[in-house]
Amino acid sequence: MRKSKIICTIGPACNKIDVLEKLYFNGMNVARINLSHGDSTSLQNTINNIKLVREKHKVPIPIMLDTKGPEIRIKNFKNGQITLKKNRLFTFTTQEILGDETKVSLAYKELINDIKIGNKIYANNGMIVLKVKKITENEIVCKVLFGGKLTNGKGLNIPNIAPKGEYLSEKDKHDLLFAIKNKVEIIAASFVGNKNDIVLLKDFLRKNGGENIKIIAKIENAEGVKNLSSILSECEGIMVARGDLGVEIPLEKIPVFQKKAILLANQMGKISIIATEMLESMTNSIRPTRAEVSDVANGIYEMATAIMLSGETAVGKYPIYTTKTMSKIAFETEKHINYNKLFFDTHKKSLSLADSISQSTCTSAINLKAKAIFVYTNLGNSANLIARHRINVPIVAITRNPQTFHSLALSWNVMPYFEEKTFSEEEMIEYAKLLAKKLNLAKNKDIIIVQTGKDDQCSNCLKAIRL
Ligand code: PEP
Repeated sequence: MRKSKIICTIGPACNKIDVLEKLYFNGMNVARINLSHGDSTSLQNTINNIKLVREKHKVPIPIMLDTKGPEIRIKNFKNGQITLKKNRLFTFTTQEILGDETKVSLAYKELINDIKIGNKIYANNGMIVLKVKKITENEIVCKVLFGGKLTNGKGLNIPNIAPKGEYLSEKDKHDLLFAIKNKVEIIAASFVGNKNDIVLLKDFLRKNGGENIKIIAKIENAEGVKNLSSILSECEGIMVARGDLGVEIPLEKIPVFQKKAILLANQMGKISIIATEMLESMTNSIRPTRAEVSDVANGIYEMATAIMLSGETAVGKYPIYTTKTMSKIAFETEKHINYNKLFFDTHKKSLSLADSISQSTCTSAINLKAKAIFVYTNLGNSANLIARHRINVPIVAITRNPQTFHSLALSWNVMPYFEEKTFSEEEMIEYAKLLAKKLNLAKNKDIIIVQTGKDDQCSNCLKAIRL
């Protein structure tokens, strides 16, 4: 089994049932939907199709909804789009107009108060660059340094300028209610700057019945980078969102931050995701660049929980083949990492009583050459604590909670298993023995480790069993 997980962004190129099925069987673990694109009908259809696939095959595929977040955006053009030409002037205005080749309205009008002459404004992930030349009461006049196609509603990146005001916009609140109604498992929260953003988000989810939804904070600006540790302490994990981040902070700082973010998330037993341009050239080509192959492998060496595909699967020509390629690179790289040696080489401080048990589970599993670890879990915490030690023993997480069944598909080296029945402790052990054989993980005389108990009460108990 591949230990690191693959997130595929679902879009027009892959939102039909037959393609989703192929994506799953070629390596997709999590289906991500970006709420910055698409209309509400296609969004609902996509969710319905993912749910149909996972119910038909009885497999865990968590749905991750990625919010639009508090971005600085432009409004619309008369013809839907324009082409910005190098060295021409272009104006952002706070007045309500339909845009053309010379001007466009700002959705975030307060920008006029924050921007300074000489600031650079970026669009299209940094491919379009403008420099502010003049600021009047209603207008920001810029010179185009690098041009390109600009379409309706595009987001702008201006390093060190984040939109002020409440973290959750009306659009985000509407989308979160939609997420709750559809019982999605994960929210990827865009442009999280500090832990208060997460507190606000959790509060909104709790008040509206979505308290079980897991939150991944997307780190994509300088403020998020600065507050990484406190953000992590409030949510289930982080995504290194390299698209926006690569414009908001100097590009050369990304690899260093990526390493640091994954390490810290792993130490804290949280999810870490590397996103954007991992196999970008495969959007249009059947072979990735060699540098992209190394980028994916590097993510595996860094022990990220998951690696992500964006446009490659959402709008690319080869969504299935790209997913398969990513899976092959990850699998091959994992074969050459001595996870168990690294576990003993790195001293890890226990985070809690439950985590001390998880360390003992891992130590026993390696020392006894166990074929698998079976952990009974309600919210998934016990499984995640074992996963954080990154050992080379498959973790089967047995749960009665359907939401946990799906969301654990994102956890490192975890194979979620749904079982409705409530068991006594003896029955838990017998059931794990049966499952070990059914899943072809162990045969007679092999050893398995079974961790039972309630993770929320730190009363886990650990047994080593010979089949
Ligand atoms: C990113 O910026 O890298 C990212 C993942 O976010 P989005 O796809 O919403 O731009």
